[in-house]
Amino acid sequence: MSVTCTYHCSPCSLHFHSLEAFDAHRVGSYAEGRHCEHPFDLLDKHGEPILVPLSEDGVCRLGCNTLRPLTGITVWVMARAAGRAAKALGAPGQALSGVSVATGVGS
Ligand SMILES: [Zn+2]
Ligand SMILES: [Zn+2]
Repeated sequence: MSVTCTYHCSPCSLHFHSLEAFDAHRVGSYAEGRHCEHPFDLLDKHGEPILVPLSEDGVCRLGCNTLRPLTGITVWVMARAAGRAAKALGAPGQALSGVSVATGVGS
């Protein structure tokens, strides 16, 4: 089962699993102009990534990809929600190899 892009960002063509994850890559105030930041450049105050790939083999049917789904895409998710999201997809850990997921947080 593949992960589907649920929040698609047209300006930067990135794919997100949740509105929260989408929102996290938009930085800057509305007054100064919000802009996209690549997840690789998004770190919290501890230097940990805020967004992590939920899948690197996802599918996007949004935006201009409705007729021809885009496959093999990276779908980003909030790092602290990654474990939960993977579990909901029935693939605990599988899509998250190499990514350390904090457990026992927010439960
Ligand atoms: Zn997408
Ligand atoms: Zn974007």
